[in-house]
Amino acid sequence: MQEQLEYQEGRTEISHMGKVALIERLTADMEQRNASTVMGVGDDCAVIEGSPLTLVNTQTLVEGVNFDMMYTPLKHLGYKAVAVALSNIAAMNGTPHQVLVSVAVSNRYSVEALDELYAGVRLCCERYDVDLVGGETGTSRAGMVITVTAIGGVEPGKITYRHGAGLHDLVCCSGDLGSAYAGLLVLEREKVTYQANPDFQPDLAGYDYVLERFLKPEPRLDIVKLLAEKGVVPTSMIDISKGLADSVLHLCRASRCGCEVYEEHLPIDYQTSRVCSEMSKNMLPVSCALNGGEDYELLFTVSQKDYDKIKDLQEIHIIGHVTEEGMPAVMVTPQNTTITLRAQAFQGVDE
Ligand SMILES: [Mg+2]
Repeated sequence: MQEQLEYQEGRTEISHMGKVALIERLTADMEQRNASTVMGVGDDCAVIEGSPLTLVNTQTLVEGVNFDMMYTPLKHLGYKAVAVALSNIAAMNGTPHQVLVSVAVSNRYSVEALDELYAGVRLCCERYDVDLVGGETGTSRAGMVITVTAIGGVEPGKITYRHGAGLHDLVCCSGDLGSAYAGLLVLEREKVTYQANPDFQPDLAGYDYVLERFLKPEPRLDIVKLLAEKGVVPTSMIDISKGLADSVLHLCRASRCGCEVYEEHLPIDYQTSRVCSEMSKNMLPVSCALNGGEDYELLFTVSQKDYDKIKDLQEIHIIGHVTEEGMPAVMVTPQNTTITLRAQAFQGVDE
């Protein structure tokens, strides 16, 4: 009791603490009481004993923080909420089987609006062969909060954690990076113009790819399948939800290694580059890739011996390699200068 009182006397702003440090602090003294808990807090999913192993994770999207109702169609939102949770199953090299979806809404939303949200939930479940098996609906004082729990499985020999990257392993990513953030930039630009002049009709033609990347991301379960077909089990893996830099740092921290990624090898779509050049000359596509977030691609490491199996795969890009423990995570520019990758501050919201 004394300890708790002392604890409350000081006040630490959430925004002053990194997200990792915050989670570590909140879960520090949690003892694991069940032998069936193979992996607790600290990876993309919790892992529960069995053969196959069971994977579980929960993701929450909050209105005004993770999505803006001004430009987010409800159907897309339902789809995205499920996709984001499935992405974490992919990050463990697993296959999703079930989801539970909980929604809290204010009276601003109608039954028809929730129908629309669930149409998106259903579409994502169908697309990835997943069953909706439960959840809850509740009331919120303001706005909408959606929480999706995804359950999946993976054979014990195929599970990939964030730890496990070995020295000189190849660092790879799927798809392209920064495009979801480019989509967000376009939507924010149109919103500002609309607010200034409500007669304004947004013109989103020519931005279809980046908009879809932001509004309706796909979990890269196709990459999990592709790697299995090629007989490759990554040595470590994570999904890219908050930008490449954040994911690289998580992998390096968990695997106790350094890393070099090469700027010229980062896959960036031409639409992303175009959006950046329209926004400002200071907005670099590489910054979108490193810090933009919401791409939901996979970042993983593979052993050098698997190079031949992955080198010709279109959707997989070799972007760097693992360096020794104690070395930093850096990006090497085409001019051969190295930039140390940094974590983003925790995105707290000012009240
Ligand atoms: Mg993740």
